[in-house]
Amino acid sequence: MPTSAVRDIVILGGGTAGWMAAAAFVRVLGEACRVHVVESELIGTVGVGEATVPHIKAFNNLLQIDEADFVRRTQGTFKLGIQFVDWLRVGETYIHGFGTEIGRNLGLLPFHQYWIKGHLKGRVQGIGAYSLNTLAAERGKFMVSASDVPPGSPLANIAYAYHFDAGLYARYLREYAGQRGARHTEGMVREVVLDPENGHVASLRMESGAEIQGDLFIDCSGFRGLLIGDAVGTPYEDFSHWLPCDRAFAVPCESTGPPTPYTRSTARAAGWQWRIPLQHRTGNGYVYCSRYVSDDEAAATLLANLDGDALGDPRPLRFTTGRRSACWNRNVVALGLASGFMEPLESTSIHLVQSGISKLLEMFPRDGFNPVLAQKYNARLAFEFDRIRDFLLLHYYATERGEPFWRECREMVITPELSEKIALFRDSGQFYRNAEEMFGDVSWIEVMLGQGVVPNGYHPLVDQVPEPDLYRFIEGVGKTISNCVEAMPMHQQFIDRFCKADR
Ligand SMILES: Cc1cc2nc3c(=O)[nH]c(=O)nc-3n(C[C@H](O)[C@H](O)[C@H](O)COP(=O)(O)OP(=O)(O)OC[C@H]3O[C@@H](n4cnc5c(N)ncnc54)[C@H](O)[C@@H]3O)c2cc1C
Repeated sequence: MPTSAVRDIVILGGGTAGWMAAAAFVRVLGEACRVHVVESELIGTVGVGEATVPHIKAFNNLLQIDEADFVRRTQGTFKLGIQFVDWLRVGETYIHGFGTEIGRNLGLLPFHQYWIKGHLKGRVQGIGAYSLNTLAAERGKFMVSASDVPPGSPLANIAYAYHFDAGLYARYLREYAGQRGARHTEGMVREVVLDPENGHVASLRMESGAEIQGDLFIDCSGFRGLLIGDAVGTPYEDFSHWLPCDRAFAVPCESTGPPTPYTRSTARAAGWQWRIPLQHRTGNGYVYCSRYVSDDEAAATLLANLDGDALGDPRPLRFTTGRRSACWNRNVVALGLASGFMEPLESTSIHLVQSGISKLLEMFPRDGFNPVLAQKYNARLAFEFDRIRDFLLLHYYATERGEPFWRECREMVITPELSEKIALFRDSGQFYRNAEEMFGDVSWIEVMLGQGVVPNGYHPLVDQVPEPDLYRFIEGVGKTISNCVEAMPMHQQFIDRFCKADR
């Protein structure tokens, strides 16, 4: 790390965001900076956030975390994708399986182009039958990528993420950061002191009277955004006209069987319910729109739809989906809930924390705070938030459900970017990933199809393959995927063998 005007980094907040930032900074910046985390047990953390996306493996690699140890200590399980139940209509289920390829690409075209022709002619199975992740998830199988198979084998490149206990994850990172020199102060911030000359944050004045000074302040104070919002006055852009859910109840319950290797999201009358299987329990929550269901009804719906006995009372959470107009303002960078909130439908919040951290490290200031750095950082983060917003919006908008909440979603005016994506996909099954957007082709294709956005046509080159060869190719891919999944161990067996946690 080159020398920088930033020596003292103060992180306000000891939730998932704060400890992820602390762990990454001590690991990457080393002796170049001092890292100080300030948190208050009286305020506590939001304590949810237990499902992730495959990008988290890059974060763990950066920290050089041992995977088995990590899974064991966070009561973790593995996640091949998300199962969506009743989203298109009641009784309809599909899986958004992770990965970079469905089936096997042929020539210039991705597999799904050939599949569309077969589908339009009624000659092939659903797209999930050609996705290793989807099929393995359905059959409860899991393994990490195998090193002893030919490079082109679907088993050589298995994309997966984790489910984990949010409290244990924060504790794990806190220990990691502490062992590598991060300082930690427990106590409540009473006042944020600004430099009268430039409006930068100069220090945090604590209830105890202590004053904590820094060069760079990372706001991980949660929904309130004590530094980015209250102190330096960054507006919050509200997305709730697109994503109208604004509340949730969360409750863990007893596990009643082996953990599924996927998150489940079940659409309900005024929102959706998550189910996240861990080794020691199952996490559940109902995310809903308060204009369409009362809190009592939402809590009752959640409790009526658990696998096992609830392990406590449902905990209420309130939020406004959106983001800060700038996540980096003066010498404050907001991460986590302080920077914005995308509702947890595709488990993207922890990824956004990770993305903010890595972009900040890439763009770390050298000679003070040149606004050009912050402008670029803000543009990149805003782009990422907005494309995730569009992806979430697709799930709500492309539905045939008839309840008033879903009718409102179906009839909403969507963003021009999403409109264009849907139109292009409907025309000929095409999708083009935009620069740094998080979700790639496979995710968009699976969710489009799952939500009933079916292409009317396919790429003209598909017709160059004679039909009998086309069907033989598709069938062969299906058989290969099925045989690979057959060879995989059950998820529970894999955990028992490599990373079983203490009860
Ligand atoms: C319903 C719901 C479900 C979610 N599910 C997922 C999911 O499945 N996957 C996912 O990736 N994300 C999910 N998230 C998001 C995830 O929970 C958050 O991104 C993550 O927990 C980060 O939170 P945080 O650290 O920003 O804030 P918090 O956990 O709220 O932490 C805030 C910290 O700031 C400190 N603090 C605040 N004010 C002060 C003060 N005055 N003085 C001292 N300290 C202070 C607090 O003590 C605390 O340590 C979900 C969120 C919600 C609401």
